[in-house]
Amino acid sequence: MIDFHTHIYPPNLPDYNKLYDSTQYVTLEKHDGETWMISEGKKFRKIEPNCFSLEERIKDMDSTGVEKQILSIVPILFAYNAPKKEIGQVVKYINDFLAACVEKYPNRFMALGTLPMQHVERCIFEIESMGDRLIGYQIGSNINGLNLDNETFYPIWDELEKRKLILFVHPWDMMGQEDMTEYWLPWLVGMPAETCRAICSMMFGGIFDKYPKLKVVFAHGGGSFCGTFGRIQHGYEVRPDLCGCKCKCSPKDYCGKFWTDSLVHSPNALKRLVKMIGEDNVLLGTDYPFPLGEKVPGSILKEAKMCKKINDKIRKGNLLKLL
Ligand SMILES: [Zn+2]
Repeated sequence: MIDFHTHIYPPNLPDYNKLYDSTQYVTLEKHDGETWMISEGKKFRKIEPNCFSLEERIKDMDSTGVEKQILSIVPILFAYNAPKKEIGQVVKYINDFLAACVEKYPNRFMALGTLPMQHVERCIFEIESMGDRLIGYQIGSNINGLNLDNETFYPIWDELEKRKLILFVHPWDMMGQEDMTEYWLPWLVGMPAETCRAICSMMFGGIFDKYPKLKVVFAHGGGSFCGTFGRIQHGYEVRPDLCGCKCKCSPKDYCGKFWTDSLVHSPNALKRLVKMIGEDNVLLGTDYPFPLGEKVPGSILKEAKMCKKINDKIRKGNLLKLL
C-alpha cells in the first residue's frame, strides 16, 4: 500500500516567534515527557514521536503493510497570515526538510511541500527551486477567506500543471468554527464542508476547464461533496445563472476529473465515492498519525469488499498512474 494522506511535523523547526518577534507561529514544547504543539500560546495537540520521527513511522509502516507514505506537514503550519517578508523563509525550511526526508529514505517516503499562498510570486519561486524533489504541494481549502477559483492563484495552477505536480487540497481554517467550538464540530462539520467548498469553487469557477491537466486531490473523500452531490447537481440545473456562468460542464461531468483520498470511515461511503468519481480516482489515505484517521491502513477498503482490481487500484495503482 501507498498512503497518500499522512502528516509530519519538522522536529527542529526554528522558533519563528522568537526569530520574527511574533506570536502567530506554531511551536513544539515538551512538558513532563509529553510533546505538544503550541498555537497562540495554548496547547493545541499532543503528539507522539511518530509525528516527527521517520524511524518511528517506518516501524508503524512495517507493521501495517504500508510500503510508502506521502508526507505533508500538519495543516496548522500553513501560516497563510504570516507577513510576506517572513513566510518565504519558513516555507523554504519546511520544503527542504520534507525533501531531505525523501532523500534519506527514498524507498519509503515521497512528499508534498507547502506553499506561501499569500505570496504568489514566492510560490512560483518555491515550485521552481524545489524542482522534482517533491511530487506536489498541499494547500488549504481557502486562503485567508479567498476561494480556490480566485484569479490570484491562476499562476500557481499554471506552474503546477506545466510541471505535472500534484495539488493536494486539505481542509483548514474551517468556516464557522468560532460559532461551533464544542463537540469537535470544526473537525466533524467544518472540515467536510470546507472540502466541498473547495471542490465546488474550483468546479463552478472553471478551474478544471482552464487547467484540464492539473492533478487535484481532495482530502477526506471530498468531504461533504459526495453526500450533497444531488443538491449541487440540482442547483446547477435550476439556477445555471448562478452556478454555471463560469464553467463549461455540468457537475456530473466533472466527476472523474479530480481525485480524492479514501478516508470516509465507512464501507458504504467508500463504495458510493468510487461509484461517483470513478475507480481510477480514489487513493488510499489515512491521515496518519492522527486519531481522526484510519488506524489500520486499508481497513475500510477491506470492509467494503470490493473486487481485487479496484482494491489494487486504490491501494497503490491509481497513485502510481497519477504520478
Ligand atoms: Zn489530514
